Amino acid sequence: MKSLKHSLLALLALPAGLAAQDMALTGAVVLDPANESIHRGAVVIRGGRIAELADALPADFDGPTLNLGGRYVIPALADVHTHSFGNASPGGMPQMLGPQGTANVALYTGVAFVLDLFSPEDMILGFRDGQRASGPQGALLFAAGPCLTATSGHCSEYGVPTRIVDTPEDARREVTELAGKVPDVVKIVYDHQSYGGRSMPTVDLATLTAVLETARQHGIRTVVHIGTWDDVRDAVQAGADAVTHTPGPAPPPVDIATLMVEAGTFHIPTLAVQSEFVRMLDEPGLLDDPLLVETVPEALRDIYRGVDASQPAFESWLEYQRILAQPTRDAVKSLADAGVPMLTGTDGGNPGIFQGYSVHRELELLEAAGLPPWAALRTATTDAARFLGHRWGVEPGDEATLLVLDASPLDAIANTKRIHAVIQAGTVVDRESLRTW
Ligand SMILES: [Zn+2]
Repeated sequence: MKSLKHSLLALLALPAGLAAQDMALTGAVVLDPANESIHRGAVVIRGGRIAELADALPADFDGPTLNLGGRYVIPALADVHTHSFGNASPGGMPQMLGPQGTANVALYTGVAFVLDLFSPEDMILGFRDGQRASGPQGALLFAAGPCLTATSGHCSEYGVPTRIVDTPEDARREVTELAGKVPDVVKIVYDHQSYGGRSMPTVDLATLTAVLETARQHGIRTVVHIGTWDDVRDAVQAGADAVTHTPGPAPPPVDIATLMVEAGTFHIPTLAVQSEFVRMLDEPGLLDDPLLVETVPEALRDIYRGVDASQPAFESWLEYQRILAQPTRDAVKSLADAGVPMLTGTDGGNPGIFQGYSVHRELELLEAAGLPPWAALRTATTDAARFLGHRWGVEPGDEATLLVLDASPLDAIANTKRIHAVIQAGTVVDRESLRTW
Protein backbone atom coordinates (compact mmCIF):
# COMPACT_ATOMS: atom_id res chain seq x y z
CA MET A 1 0.00 0.00 0.00
CA LYS A 2 2.72 2.35 1.05
CA SER A 3 4.75 1.94 -2.13
CA LEU A 4 1.62 2.31 -4.25
CA LYS A 5 0.78 5.53 -2.49
CA HIS A 6 4.26 6.88 -3.05
CA SER A 7 4.46 5.88 -6.68
CA LEU A 8 1.12 7.58 -7.25
CA LEU A 9 2.46 10.78 -5.71
CA ALA A 10 5.57 10.51 -7.89
CA LEU A 11 3.39 10.01 -10.95
CA LEU A 12 1.43 13.15 -10.23
CA ALA A 13 4.47 15.26 -9.44
CA LEU A 14 5.56 17.50 -12.28
CA PRO A 15 8.92 19.18 -12.72
CA ALA A 16 8.63 22.82 -11.66
CA GLY A 17 7.69 25.12 -14.49
CA LEU A 18 5.32 22.80 -16.32
CA ALA A 19 1.75 24.01 -16.64
CA ALA A 20 -0.58 22.84 -13.89
CA GLN A 21 -2.81 20.02 -14.99
CA ASP A 22 -6.30 19.19 -14.01
CA MET A 23 -6.42 16.76 -11.12
CA ALA A 24 -8.82 15.53 -8.48
CA LEU A 25 -8.57 14.42 -4.88
CA THR A 26 -10.97 11.80 -3.56
CA GLY A 27 -11.50 10.51 -0.04
CA ALA A 28 -10.61 13.96 1.25
CA VAL A 29 -11.64 15.68 4.47
CA VAL A 30 -11.40 19.34 3.46
CA LEU A 31 -11.08 21.92 6.22
CA ASP A 32 -11.93 25.52 5.30
CA PRO A 33 -10.62 27.80 8.06
CA ALA A 34 -12.40 30.87 6.61
CA ASN A 35 -15.86 29.58 7.50
CA GLU A 36 -14.91 26.69 9.79
CA SER A 37 -16.57 24.15 7.50
CA ILE A 38 -15.68 20.53 6.80
CA HIS A 39 -16.35 18.88 3.45
CA ARG A 40 -15.96 15.13 2.95
CA GLY A 41 -15.55 13.81 -0.57
CA ALA A 42 -13.84 14.97 -3.75
CA VAL A 43 -11.95 18.10 -4.76
CA VAL A 44 -11.79 18.91 -8.46
CA ILE A 45 -8.88 21.10 -9.56
CA ARG A 46 -8.78 22.59 -13.05
CA GLY A 47 -5.97 24.76 -14.39
CA GLY A 48 -4.38 24.92 -10.95
CA ARG A 49 -7.51 26.25 -9.23
CA ILE A 50 -10.26 24.70 -7.15
CA ALA A 51 -13.12 24.04 -9.57
CA GLU A 52 -15.52 22.26 -7.29
CA LEU A 53 -16.00 20.39 -4.03
CA ALA A 54 -18.23 17.39 -4.74
CA ASP A 55 -19.55 14.40 -2.84
CA ALA A 56 -17.90 12.08 -5.35
CA LEU A 57 -15.70 12.35 -8.41
CA PRO A 58 -17.80 13.77 -11.31
CA ALA A 59 -18.39 11.08 -13.96
CA ASP A 60 -16.91 13.24 -16.72
CA PHE A 61 -13.60 13.88 -14.93
CA ASP A 62 -10.79 12.16 -16.85
CA GLY A 63 -7.66 13.65 -15.26
CA PRO A 64 -5.36 12.03 -12.71
CA THR A 65 -6.96 11.27 -9.36
CA LEU A 66 -5.36 10.91 -5.94
CA ASN A 67 -7.28 8.96 -3.31
CA LEU A 68 -6.45 10.47 0.07
CA GLY A 69 -8.07 7.71 2.09
CA GLY A 70 -9.69 10.09 4.57
CA ARG A 71 -6.70 12.41 4.99
CA TYR A 72 -7.11 16.10 5.74
CA VAL A 73 -6.76 18.96 3.24
CA ILE A 74 -6.07 22.52 4.34
CA PRO A 75 -4.81 25.60 2.48
CA ALA A 76 -1.00 25.67 2.46
CA LEU A 77 0.67 27.80 5.13
CA ALA A 78 2.24 31.26 4.97
CA ASP A 79 5.00 33.02 6.90
CA VAL A 80 4.39 36.77 6.68
CA HIS A 81 7.49 37.81 8.59
CA THR A 82 10.82 36.34 7.59
CA HIS A 83 14.29 37.30 6.40
CA SER A 84 15.21 34.81 3.77
CA PHE A 85 19.00 34.71 4.03
CA GLY A 86 18.81 31.53 6.10
CA ASN A 87 19.00 30.44 9.73
CA ALA A 88 20.89 32.21 12.50
CA SER A 89 23.43 30.29 14.53
CA PRO A 90 24.11 31.29 18.12
CA GLY A 91 27.87 31.00 18.34
CA GLY A 92 28.70 29.80 14.84
CA MET A 93 28.30 30.56 11.16
CA PRO A 94 24.67 31.07 10.14
CA GLN A 95 23.17 28.53 7.76
CA MET A 96 23.15 30.51 4.54
CA LEU A 97 20.21 29.49 2.37
CA GLY A 98 19.52 32.60 0.31
CA PRO A 99 16.05 33.26 -1.08
CA GLN A 100 16.01 30.10 -3.23
CA GLY A 101 17.11 27.86 -0.38
CA THR A 102 14.60 29.52 1.92
CA ALA A 103 11.84 29.07 -0.68
CA ASN A 104 12.80 25.39 -0.99
CA VAL A 105 12.82 24.58 2.72
CA ALA A 106 9.64 26.57 3.27
CA LEU A 107 7.68 24.66 0.64
CA TYR A 108 9.12 21.37 1.93
CA THR A 109 7.55 22.16 5.30
CA GLY A 110 4.20 23.11 3.75
CA VAL A 111 4.81 26.87 3.81
CA ALA A 112 3.98 27.91 0.25
CA PHE A 113 4.09 31.70 0.73
CA VAL A 114 6.72 33.79 2.51
CA LEU A 115 6.89 37.54 3.04
CA ASP A 116 10.46 38.80 3.41
CA LEU A 117 10.45 41.91 5.59
CA PHE A 118 14.05 43.04 5.04
CA SER A 119 16.79 41.81 2.77
CA PRO A 120 19.13 43.63 0.34
CA GLU A 121 16.62 45.56 -1.74
CA ASP A 122 17.58 44.86 -5.34
CA MET A 123 18.56 41.25 -4.65
CA ILE A 124 15.29 40.28 -2.99
CA LEU A 125 12.98 42.23 -5.31
CA GLY A 126 14.91 40.84 -8.30
CA PHE A 127 14.40 37.30 -7.00
CA ARG A 128 10.71 38.05 -6.53
CA ASP A 129 10.44 39.41 -10.08
CA GLY A 130 12.16 36.30 -11.42
CA GLN A 131 9.65 34.04 -9.67
CA ARG A 132 6.75 36.08 -11.05
CA ALA A 133 8.15 35.77 -14.58
CA SER A 134 8.95 32.04 -14.62
CA GLY A 135 6.73 30.54 -11.92
CA PRO A 136 7.99 29.76 -8.43
CA GLN A 137 10.41 26.98 -7.58
CA GLY A 138 9.78 26.51 -3.91
CA ALA A 139 7.53 28.85 -1.95
CA LEU A 140 6.21 31.99 -3.63
CA LEU A 141 8.11 34.96 -2.22
CA PHE A 142 6.64 38.36 -1.40
CA ALA A 143 9.06 41.08 -0.30
CA ALA A 144 9.35 44.47 1.33
CA GLY A 145 12.90 45.17 0.16
CA PRO A 146 14.45 47.55 2.69
CA CYS A 147 13.46 48.18 6.30
CA LEU A 148 12.84 51.90 6.69
CA THR A 149 14.36 53.26 9.87
CA ALA A 150 15.94 56.29 11.52
CA THR A 151 19.67 57.01 11.40
CA SER A 152 21.29 54.33 13.64
CA GLY A 153 17.83 52.79 14.21
CA HIS A 154 16.93 49.08 14.33
CA CYS A 155 17.64 47.36 10.99
CA SER A 156 20.71 49.55 10.40
CA GLU A 157 22.91 47.35 12.63
CA TYR A 158 23.24 44.34 10.31
CA GLY A 159 25.56 45.82 7.70
CA VAL A 160 22.82 45.40 5.07
CA PRO A 161 22.14 48.69 3.28
CA THR A 162 18.65 50.01 3.98
CA ARG A 163 16.71 53.24 3.51
CA ILE A 164 17.04 55.87 6.22
CA VAL A 165 14.10 58.20 6.92
CA ASP A 166 14.57 60.92 9.55
CA THR A 167 11.95 63.43 8.37
CA PRO A 168 8.57 63.38 6.59
CA GLU A 169 10.39 64.75 3.54
CA ASP A 170 12.79 61.77 3.60
CA ALA A 171 9.78 59.48 3.99
CA ARG A 172 7.96 60.80 0.93
CA ARG A 173 11.11 60.75 -1.21
CA GLU A 174 12.25 57.24 -0.21
CA VAL A 175 8.84 55.57 -0.41
CA THR A 176 8.10 57.19 -3.77
CA GLU A 177 11.42 55.97 -5.16
CA LEU A 178 10.92 52.51 -3.67
CA ALA A 179 7.39 52.33 -5.08
CA GLY A 180 8.91 52.26 -8.57
CA LYS A 181 10.15 48.75 -7.74
CA VAL A 182 6.67 47.68 -6.59
CA PRO A 183 7.46 46.08 -3.22
CA ASP A 184 4.65 43.90 -1.88
CA VAL A 185 4.67 45.85 1.39
CA VAL A 186 6.56 48.76 2.92
CA LYS A 187 8.26 47.87 6.23
CA ILE A 188 9.15 50.53 8.81
CA VAL A 189 10.52 50.43 12.36
CA TYR A 190 8.72 52.50 15.01
CA ASP A 191 10.07 51.17 18.28
CA HIS A 192 10.37 52.92 21.64
CA GLN A 193 11.12 49.72 23.58
CA SER A 194 14.42 49.52 25.42
CA TYR A 195 15.52 45.87 25.22
CA GLY A 196 17.68 44.96 28.21
CA GLY A 197 18.55 48.59 28.80
CA ARG A 198 19.52 49.09 25.15
CA SER A 199 17.47 51.53 23.11
CA MET A 200 17.92 52.64 19.53
CA PRO A 201 16.84 55.80 17.76
CA THR A 202 13.48 55.54 16.00
CA VAL A 203 11.49 57.67 13.55
CA ASP A 204 9.11 60.28 14.94
CA LEU A 205 5.34 60.07 14.49
CA ALA A 206 5.28 62.61 11.64
CA THR A 207 7.82 60.55 9.69
CA LEU A 208 5.95 57.29 10.39
CA THR A 209 2.72 58.93 9.22
CA ALA A 210 4.37 60.21 6.04
CA VAL A 211 5.71 56.72 5.22
CA LEU A 212 2.29 55.12 5.70
CA GLU A 213 0.45 57.81 3.73
CA THR A 214 2.89 57.75 0.83
CA ALA A 215 2.75 53.93 0.66
CA ARG A 216 -1.06 54.08 0.64
CA GLN A 217 -1.00 56.62 -2.20
CA HIS A 218 0.99 54.07 -4.20
CA GLY A 219 -1.38 51.25 -3.24
CA ILE A 220 1.24 49.43 -1.16
CA ARG A 221 0.45 47.79 2.17
CA THR A 222 2.47 48.58 5.27
CA VAL A 223 3.95 46.58 8.14
CA VAL A 224 5.21 48.46 11.20
CA HIS A 225 7.73 46.85 13.56
CA ILE A 226 6.65 48.11 16.99
CA GLY A 227 8.13 47.85 20.48
CA THR A 228 5.50 49.17 22.92
CA TRP A 229 1.72 49.34 23.12
CA ASP A 230 1.96 53.11 22.60
CA ASP A 231 3.82 52.33 19.37
CA VAL A 232 0.94 50.04 18.36
CA ARG A 233 -1.61 52.79 19.06
CA ASP A 234 0.35 55.35 17.02
CA ALA A 235 0.85 52.92 14.13
CA VAL A 236 -2.83 51.95 14.01
CA GLN A 237 -3.99 55.56 14.17
CA ALA A 238 -1.49 56.52 11.48
CA GLY A 239 -3.00 53.87 9.19
CA ALA A 240 -0.70 50.82 9.36
CA ASP A 241 -2.08 47.72 7.63
CA ALA A 242 -0.20 45.45 10.07
CA VAL A 243 1.92 45.70 13.19
CA THR A 244 4.51 43.07 14.02
CA HIS A 245 5.86 41.76 17.35
CA THR A 246 4.03 41.72 20.67
CA PRO A 247 4.91 44.20 23.44
CA GLY A 248 5.09 43.22 27.10
CA PRO A 249 5.13 42.42 29.90
CA ALA A 250 2.40 45.05 30.40
CA PRO A 251 -0.95 43.90 28.97
CA PRO A 252 -2.45 45.85 26.08
CA PRO A 253 -4.19 49.05 27.24
CA VAL A 254 -7.97 48.70 27.03
CA ASP A 255 -8.34 50.84 23.90
CA ILE A 256 -5.87 48.89 21.72
CA ALA A 257 -8.06 45.96 20.63
CA THR A 258 -10.98 48.22 19.69
CA LEU A 259 -8.71 50.54 17.73
CA MET A 260 -7.22 47.60 15.80
CA VAL A 261 -10.58 45.98 15.10
CA GLU A 262 -12.12 49.24 13.88
CA ALA A 263 -9.13 50.00 11.67
CA GLY A 264 -8.85 46.39 10.45
CA THR A 265 -5.19 46.26 11.44
CA PHE A 266 -3.56 42.84 11.28
CA HIS A 267 -1.32 41.69 14.12
CA ILE A 268 1.75 39.55 13.37
CA PRO A 269 2.65 38.49 16.94
CA THR A 270 5.95 36.59 16.25
CA LEU A 271 5.62 34.65 19.52
CA ALA A 272 8.26 32.15 18.39
CA VAL A 273 11.08 34.64 17.93
CA GLN A 274 10.20 36.14 21.29
CA SER A 275 10.30 32.84 23.20
CA GLU A 276 11.78 29.90 21.27
CA PHE A 277 15.48 30.51 21.94
CA VAL A 278 15.14 30.19 25.71
CA ARG A 279 12.66 27.37 25.29
CA MET A 280 15.23 25.31 23.33
CA LEU A 281 17.65 25.66 26.23
CA ASP A 282 14.98 24.55 28.70
CA GLU A 283 13.56 21.80 26.48
CA PRO A 284 16.37 20.53 24.19
CA GLY A 285 14.00 17.76 23.05
CA LEU A 286 12.43 20.36 20.75
CA LEU A 287 15.57 20.07 18.63
CA ASP A 288 14.69 16.42 17.86
CA ASP A 289 11.36 17.16 16.20
CA PRO A 290 11.24 14.99 13.04
CA LEU A 291 10.43 17.90 10.72
CA LEU A 292 13.30 19.92 12.20
CA VAL A 293 15.66 16.96 11.80
CA GLU A 294 14.64 16.72 8.13
CA THR A 295 15.24 20.41 7.44
CA VAL A 296 18.10 21.64 9.64
CA PRO A 297 21.62 20.13 9.66
CA GLU A 298 22.63 18.32 12.81
CA ALA A 299 25.63 20.63 13.21
CA LEU A 300 23.37 23.65 13.65
CA ARG A 301 21.05 21.82 16.05
CA ASP A 302 24.15 20.84 18.04
CA ILE A 303 25.19 24.49 18.32
CA TYR A 304 21.81 25.21 19.93
CA ARG A 305 22.35 22.28 22.31
CA GLY A 306 25.70 23.74 23.34
CA VAL A 307 24.68 27.38 23.89
CA ASP A 308 26.25 28.91 26.99
CA ALA A 309 23.31 30.84 28.43
CA SER A 310 25.58 32.93 30.67
CA GLN A 311 27.31 34.55 27.70
CA PRO A 312 26.77 38.31 27.88
CA ALA A 313 25.63 38.28 24.25
CA PHE A 314 22.64 36.09 25.16
CA GLU A 315 21.95 36.75 28.81
CA SER A 316 19.68 39.79 28.56
CA TRP A 317 17.87 38.44 25.49
CA LEU A 318 17.15 35.13 27.23
CA GLU A 319 15.99 36.92 30.36
CA TYR A 320 13.72 39.11 28.22
CA GLN A 321 12.27 35.96 26.60
CA ARG A 322 11.56 34.37 29.97
CA ILE A 323 9.81 37.49 31.27
CA LEU A 324 7.73 38.00 28.15
CA ALA A 325 6.67 34.46 27.25
CA GLN A 326 3.41 34.30 29.21
CA PRO A 327 2.36 37.98 29.11
CA THR A 328 2.72 38.10 25.32
CA ARG A 329 0.61 34.96 24.93
CA ASP A 330 -2.03 36.51 27.17
CA ALA A 331 -1.93 39.69 25.10
CA VAL A 332 -2.37 37.76 21.85
CA LYS A 333 -5.30 35.84 23.32
CA SER A 334 -7.06 39.01 24.45
CA LEU A 335 -6.56 40.72 21.08
CA ALA A 336 -7.71 37.63 19.19
CA ASP A 337 -10.79 37.28 21.41
CA ALA A 338 -11.65 40.90 20.61
CA GLY A 339 -11.53 40.12 16.89
CA VAL A 340 -8.11 41.42 15.86
CA PRO A 341 -6.99 39.38 12.82
CA MET A 342 -3.73 37.56 13.56
CA LEU A 343 -1.12 36.40 11.06
CA THR A 344 1.64 33.81 11.39
CA GLY A 345 5.12 35.32 11.14
CA THR A 346 8.32 33.78 12.46
CA ASP A 347 10.98 36.50 12.02
CA GLY A 348 13.12 33.80 10.42
CA GLY A 349 16.80 34.61 10.36
CA ASN A 350 16.87 35.31 14.10
CA PRO A 351 18.07 33.00 16.89
CA GLY A 352 15.60 30.27 17.87
CA ILE A 353 13.89 30.32 14.48
CA PHE A 354 14.21 27.93 11.54
CA GLN A 355 12.85 28.72 8.08
CA GLY A 356 9.64 26.83 7.35
CA TYR A 357 9.60 24.68 10.48
CA SER A 358 9.03 27.60 12.86
CA VAL A 359 5.69 28.44 11.22
CA HIS A 360 4.44 25.21 12.77
CA ARG A 361 5.93 26.24 16.11
CA GLU A 362 4.27 29.65 15.87
CA LEU A 363 0.95 27.86 15.33
CA GLU A 364 1.61 25.73 18.43
CA LEU A 365 2.39 28.84 20.45
CA LEU A 366 -0.82 30.49 19.24
CA GLU A 367 -2.72 27.38 20.30
CA ALA A 368 -0.92 27.45 23.67
CA ALA A 369 -1.94 31.09 24.00
CA GLY A 370 -5.55 29.93 23.80
CA LEU A 371 -6.55 30.42 20.16
CA PRO A 372 -9.04 27.75 19.05
CA PRO A 373 -7.67 25.45 16.31
CA TRP A 374 -9.74 27.08 13.54
CA ALA A 375 -8.53 30.54 14.57
CA ALA A 376 -4.93 29.38 14.69
CA LEU A 377 -5.29 27.86 11.21
CA ARG A 378 -6.67 31.12 9.80
CA THR A 379 -3.55 33.01 10.90
CA ALA A 380 -1.41 30.97 8.50
CA THR A 381 -3.93 30.37 5.71
CA THR A 382 -7.04 32.30 4.80
CA ASP A 383 -6.26 35.48 6.74
CA ALA A 384 -2.71 35.45 5.38
CA ALA A 385 -4.18 35.14 1.88
CA ARG A 386 -6.36 38.14 2.57
CA PHE A 387 -3.38 40.17 3.80
CA LEU A 388 -1.11 39.20 0.90
CA GLY A 389 -3.88 39.79 -1.65
CA HIS A 390 -3.20 36.34 -3.15
CA ARG A 391 -6.12 33.98 -3.13
CA TRP A 392 -5.27 30.36 -2.33
CA GLY A 393 -7.20 27.73 -0.44
CA VAL A 394 -10.06 25.28 -0.73
CA GLU A 395 -12.90 27.40 -2.09
CA PRO A 396 -13.93 27.38 -5.77
CA GLY A 397 -11.73 29.86 -7.65
CA ASP A 398 -8.86 29.66 -5.16
CA GLU A 399 -5.38 28.72 -6.33
CA ALA A 400 -5.14 25.06 -5.35
CA THR A 401 -2.09 25.38 -3.09
CA LEU A 402 -2.82 22.87 -0.34
CA LEU A 403 -1.47 20.62 2.35
CA VAL A 404 -2.57 17.02 2.76
CA LEU A 405 -2.13 15.96 6.39
CA ASP A 406 -2.13 12.51 7.98
CA ALA A 407 -3.96 13.77 11.07
CA SER A 408 -6.44 16.53 11.79
CA PRO A 409 -5.05 19.94 12.87
CA LEU A 410 -8.38 20.44 14.66
CA ASP A 411 -7.35 17.70 17.12
CA ALA A 412 -3.94 19.32 17.72
CA ILE A 413 -2.43 22.12 15.69
CA ALA A 414 0.94 20.29 15.78
CA ASN A 415 -0.62 17.93 13.22
CA THR A 416 0.20 20.53 10.55
CA LYS A 417 3.66 18.93 10.69
CA ARG A 418 2.30 15.52 9.64
CA ILE A 419 2.59 16.31 5.96
CA HIS A 420 1.48 13.65 3.49
CA ALA A 421 1.74 15.87 0.41
CA VAL A 422 2.10 19.48 -0.66
CA ILE A 423 0.13 20.66 -3.67
CA GLN A 424 1.18 23.90 -5.37
CA ALA A 425 -1.24 25.43 -7.86
CA GLY A 426 -2.71 22.04 -8.69
CA THR A 427 0.59 20.17 -8.94
CA VAL A 428 1.81 17.64 -6.36
CA VAL A 429 5.18 18.95 -5.22
CA ASP A 430 8.17 16.61 -5.40
CA ARG A 431 9.31 17.46 -1.88
CA GLU A 432 12.53 15.43 -2.13
CA SER A 433 13.71 17.62 -5.03
CA LEU A 434 13.49 20.64 -2.72
CA ARG A 435 16.11 19.25 -0.33
CA THR A 436 18.99 21.50 -1.39
CA TRP A 437 20.19 22.34 2.13
ZN1 LIG B 1 12.07 40.87 11.37
